[in-house]
Amino acid sequence: MSNTAQKETMGFQTEVKQLLHLMIHSLYSNKEIFLRELISNASDAADKMRFAAIADGALYEGDSDLAIRLAFDQEAKTLTISDNGIGMNRDDVIEHLGTIAKSGTAEFLQNLTGDQQKDSQLIGQFGVGFYSSFIVAKQVEVYTRKAGFDVSEGVHWVSAGEGEFSIEQVELPQRGTTIVLHLKDDETEFADGFRLRNLVRKYSDHISIPVVMEKQHFGEEDAPAEAEEETVNTATALWTKPRADVSAEEYQEFYKHVAHDFQDALNWSHNKVEGKLEYTSLLYLPSKAPFDMYQRDANRGLKLYVQRVFIMDEAEQFLPMYLRFIKGVVDSNDLSLNVSREILQKDPVIDSMRSALTKRVLDMLEKMAKKDADKYQQFWQEFGQVLKEGPAEDFANKEKIAKLLRFASTLDDSAEQNHSLTDYVARMQEGQDKIYYVVADSHNTAKNSPHLEIFRKKGIEVLLLSDRIDEWLMSHLMEFDGKQLQDVAKGDLDLGAIEDEADKAAKEQQQEKLKDLVERVEKLLAEQVESVRVTNRLTDSPACLVVAEHEMGAQMRKLMEAAGQAMPSTKPTMELNPEHPLVTKLDQEADEDRFADLTQVLFDQALLAEGGQLQDPSAYVSRLNKLLLELSA
Ligand code: ADP
Ligand code: MG
Repeated sequence: MSNTAQKETMGFQTEVKQLLHLMIHSLYSNKEIFLRELISNASDAADKMRFAAIADGALYEGDSDLAIRLAFDQEAKTLTISDNGIGMNRDDVIEHLGTIAKSGTAEFLQNLTGDQQKDSQLIGQFGVGFYSSFIVAKQVEVYTRKAGFDVSEGVHWVSAGEGEFSIEQVELPQRGTTIVLHLKDDETEFADGFRLRNLVRKYSDHISIPVVMEKQHFGEEDAPAEAEEETVNTATALWTKPRADVSAEEYQEFYKHVAHDFQDALNWSHNKVEGKLEYTSLLYLPSKAPFDMYQRDANRGLKLYVQRVFIMDEAEQFLPMYLRFIKGVVDSNDLSLNVSREILQKDPVIDSMRSALTKRVLDMLEKMAKKDADKYQQFWQEFGQVLKEGPAEDFANKEKIAKLLRFASTLDDSAEQNHSLTDYVARMQEGQDKIYYVVADSHNTAKNSPHLEIFRKKGIEVLLLSDRIDEWLMSHLMEFDGKQLQDVAKGDLDLGAIEDEADKAAKEQQQEKLKDLVERVEKLLAEQVESVRVTNRLTDSPACLVVAEHEMGAQMRKLMEAAGQAMPSTKPTMELNPEHPLVTKLDQEADEDRFADLTQVLFDQALLAEGGQLQDPSAYVSRLNKLLLELSA
């Protein structure tokens, strides 16, 4: 015999152990899904086999009828799932059945609370996969040989799903993978022909290759001696069927297979395109964001098929980055079976498919927003942040994306982002020509910003923005429906027609009256401010800070600095509220020292109110205390 390697025992990666524990405990009430997962893997392996054989037909070893076989033994309490797909070699087995390769997994699992209810929701962000077999099995054996490898290079893997697994080289005449589940004593219900057939029809009917069982498993004892087989699924690719022939349940089950998700999809769009380009797409919107959505190397993209033949997973070229949460299938009749990632990047056919698929997704979202606002809010909570990347990435669809955005607003001051720009525009006041918004680090800071005072007084709605990406988003959006988007903390406040003549006259009069004060403050704070002026935007606060119209706001500045960009320092303009008693007092203050203290405190407070950081916090505290003592003296 060949140099058969010794049996070796290895430990699971820590993350696998944690996940196994979590899965076994939290999915117990849903244990039958293990079968769906194993059949889904076998189907993927068949897809990969067919693809590999395009380049090298010999890999079939004369066996090109791809199928999945289910068998059981009631006495031995085993359930066996075999496929003649691509199989795995030793390295594949160690990697795929011993580790979780996704980056960020360790950090993610640290968030486990120990609260089973909460933790079980986390599972959905992972996908369950092969390890779910341990929900029903006390021991799992895998026999597998990869296509193109010698019969002596088979691998036998065994584990009880606790801390470790063993791996051994064995001779396997059959290419592909056979999984033997040694069922737990109270899980023998799965060693039953009718039960298994029902489960296949419920969860795996959409699998495009046959799932086969022996007829004698259904008690047909007078079946001929040589085993007769029955195909228990429909075995046609689901996306090739007309929409009317596919039920919602079937769409959902197929989703779980393509997306490797455990939960239902929130929505989908299934379309067949004919004409110059011919392709079918089935695009799904997940209901939960995966844990690695912001990981740079996270999986994204669609499953690509060419004329029903699987070509690749994660074909990223068919959708823009800001729609990376979409899962699904695209099946083209125009591309060549030899298409590669490199070709996809250059092919103009892909560009037009990409813009059509992008439109499909945006249309699906728009329809959902119209038809079912609650569902749309659910989407927005999970993926709104990602969609906000859209206007910067996809100029052509800017207006379409803008309609899909949702914001918090002074209309109700709630932190929930549920107001559209369209609704805002419909609520605009007589004479209002801009869409106003404020950006801050947190919803509370935004909601309590002094910049909102005049707007509240006049009853003008302002959008409250506090996501990290918001200022970046607004700088790309710039306008909506012909109305300029205006940051209320930027530039000289111009309320346009909303400001009446009396307001303007009063402002001019006050400017004149406080001319000296403005000069004194400007001189004192020369290092810290660009200029000082009187404002009518404040009602309750004595002062606020404003950046120039085309200057970067505080949020964007922080973002750039966090990304390691050195930012040139710019100084804000300080605005004083002429109606405020502290400003009046300041104007009358003859003692230069006290004037300096009070001025500096007003500046620091204005900075704090925006969520800014003081350069010298302890100096602020002692100055304030000094003023407080004088007050009580
Ligand atoms: P996922 O299917 O989401 O990748 P799984 O835990 O279900 O996660 O499977 C992990 C990996 O193990 C698969 O990606 C595949 O590489 C490998 N694998 C599992 N089952 C099979 C099989 N029947 N044939 C070949 N490879 C398999
Ligand atoms: Mg899987």
